[in-house]
Amino acid sequence: MGAIDVIADLRELAKLTSTADGAQRLAWGPIWRDARAWFSSKLATLNLTSEIDAAGNSWVMLLGSSDRTVIIGSHLDSVPNGGWLDGSLGVMVGLEALRMFRGQRPPVTLKVVDWADEEGARFSRSLLGSSAASGSLDVTEVEHLADKGGVTLTDALKQNGVELSRMHESQKYLKAINAKAYLELHIEQGPVLEAANKSAGVVIGTFGVERHLLRFVGQAAHSGSTPIPMRKDAFLAAAESALAFREIARKYTTPAARVVCTVGTARVEPGIVTAVPGVCEISLDQRALDARVLAQMLADARAASWRIASENNVSVEWKRIWSIDPRPFDPKLIRLCEDAVREVTGDAPHLPSGPLHDAAEMVPHMPVVMMFAYSSNGLPHCKEEDTPEPHLTKAFEAFLLLVRKVVLSKD
Ligand SMILES: [Zn+2]
Repeated sequence: MGAIDVIADLRELAKLTSTADGAQRLAWGPIWRDARAWFSSKLATLNLTSEIDAAGNSWVMLLGSSDRTVIIGSHLDSVPNGGWLDGSLGVMVGLEALRMFRGQRPPVTLKVVDWADEEGARFSRSLLGSSAASGSLDVTEVEHLADKGGVTLTDALKQNGVELSRMHESQKYLKAINAKAYLELHIEQGPVLEAANKSAGVVIGTFGVERHLLRFVGQAAHSGSTPIPMRKDAFLAAAESALAFREIARKYTTPAARVVCTVGTARVEPGIVTAVPGVCEISLDQRALDARVLAQMLADARAASWRIASENNVSVEWKRIWSIDPRPFDPKLIRLCEDAVREVTGDAPHLPSGPLHDAAEMVPHMPVVMMFAYSSNGLPHCKEEDTPEPHLTKAFEAFLLLVRKVVLSKD
């Protein structure tokens, strides 16, 4: 029972919704609907049924003796050719928590939520269902979205009984819950727990993100005829800046707090082997858990790019692509999570979450904590994604213990 059941459920779901290339539970599509129908059949064995809110999120409730509610959430949708644990891990452990309290009347109510379209793999807007429920979704920013096949988001939602213009009504559903806590177990999708050989870790919050596009403009010139001192090479300015950004990440990383800076894209013009690049565009993605540190990292990056641009006789312009504030989790829940992880695994490493999760959307509304499970090779979003079974078992045990602790904790 317990962890063994969860693993059996996960294998069954993977078998039903994967091909040789991995999980295919793309949100709003037929295999995702199959996954949800399969989940409903599991609920039926517990005499429970789910209800769908206005944003397509699926909720199931086990009534307790009070309306104070502990929510366990994650997502059944996957990217194309995705892994067997991303998202489904958190939903399946929620199912196990329902089984754990079956036939009893727990002191608080339990809800398990399967958020709709966490991945954003089809329409490029992640956290769609949870952001609608939390009130941070701006419909005007997504109403024009279409998938690769030209199907609009509006139509895809409609096929699933969801009206884009009414998704915000899911806020009422969330607000009506007398929430005591939101808990989420997720595979780490990074190498930290594996490197420390730890089955589970306590997540202290999700990183804030500053994402910008930098455009360096110099002068395109012939590679043979233009002497080095006379060049205005936009690529070299961008490349030097990228190295400076790595130094900024090193400077602000402390033993207690890791930060990151990433240049993920680079494009040069004219893009010819015999031309000095006149234009170079790079992206910069900066992440930190402390808002003041993130602001300082951004200021340092701007200053470095301006200095380097001027040293290279080029100009640089910054354009913000996207940003989000850091979302620190609840200190009291972090302590309970730490107790649970330590009791099961002997140790309780703390780590921030670099990727965003639905949990981040719940932070403004209720106390939140996440637990991460060991991730083999730190590989996410692919069929190789895995947590070896002994680690998986421990992570489930720790999370179910956390659920019990939170359910029984005094407010
Ligand atoms: Zn996920």
